[in-house]
Amino acid sequence: MKKYNFNAGPSMLPREVIENTAKQILDFNGSGLSLAEISHRAKDFQPVVDEAVALIKELLEIPEGYSVLFLGGGASLEFCMVPYNFLKKKAAYLNTGVWAKKAMKEAKLFGEVVEVASSAEANYTYIPKDWECPADADYLHITTNNTIYGTEIRHELQVPVRMIADMSSDIFSRPVDVSKYDCIYAGAQKNLAMAGVTLVIVKDDALGKVDRSIPTMLDYRTHVEKGSMFNTPPVVPIYSALETLRWIKAQGGLKMMDKLAHERAEMLYAEIDRNKLFRGTAKEEDRSLMNICFVMNDEYKELEKPFLDYALSCGMVGVKGHRSVGGFRASCYNAQTIEGVEALVKCMQDFEAQH
Ligand SMILES: *Cc1c(COP(=O)(O)O)cnc(C)c1O
Repeated sequence: MKKYNFNAGPSMLPREVIENTAKQILDFNGSGLSLAEISHRAKDFQPVVDEAVALIKELLEIPEGYSVLFLGGGASLEFCMVPYNFLKKKAAYLNTGVWAKKAMKEAKLFGEVVEVASSAEANYTYIPKDWECPADADYLHITTNNTIYGTEIRHELQVPVRMIADMSSDIFSRPVDVSKYDCIYAGAQKNLAMAGVTLVIVKDDALGKVDRSIPTMLDYRTHVEKGSMFNTPPVVPIYSALETLRWIKAQGGLKMMDKLAHERAEMLYAEIDRNKLFRGTAKEEDRSLMNICFVMNDEYKELEKPFLDYALSCGMVGVKGHRSVGGFRASCYNAQTIEGVEALVKCMQDFEAQH
């Protein structure tokens, strides 16, 4: 039976990305050696990094003066690298979920942290509006897509300070005005690559402004100077990122990714709103196009487990919701197909008809 992958991360990648990466793992560029057994300094590998960086700059239309880095440690390490490198006295954080809260926790080790707003009291079902960002903050940190709760900020906020964004689960799903940010980071395993690499986009002249000394590996300047080759980078995940970037470009770039994201999400939300069994958990205006969270309506609560079993029997993988929200979560990153969403919608309709 055909499987449809709705996992939240690591998650679905385009089939050709997996296949092309697998080929290079067996025989890299016809060299007779595996991608996994060559030096990252081999002359054949440098072009992989160069092309990936060039494609990222092209797709996101990154202005001059920014560096693109491939680092280890996941988005979680960035929670500490960001304040290490950018927090002088005070930083502002918008608390929209568990990831935002974890980022805030690390920042508190380095200086004053102002929580500009939080939706914790409503289990993060919405994005707070009408808050003020202190104009003397070193930066405002936001999480553009809240993977667990299915809320998203899909536009650039207007604030009086430079922004830093965790875009782990929606990067490359829409055009972004990078010039508003001092730093954008994303663990690759949601929308870009196989797990093991983190993409960081950093404004060069925003670096070197803090007084504290920074351990070499945690200093962005180390990686800027060495072109992500200070130490051994995650070679295979970087290669898979290159394949994904080529795929995105061939599909029509970020405007097309945005259009498809809208189509997929609107189809699924329309069914959630129509179907008597289900309801969405996020406030409508803040609904994520990437992670679509829904639960059983109260009068059908006992059908939760049967629906999960039924969905599985229809080939739907990874539809179970995160434990802190419950219910269901269908992740629809760039690689998700309209066909996959149609199959899930049909599964929801068939289940409704049986009850
Ligand atoms: C998954 C995720 C993270 C954590 O990423 P790791 O690479 O596992 O550290 C952080 N932020 C967001 C928004 C995520 O979705």
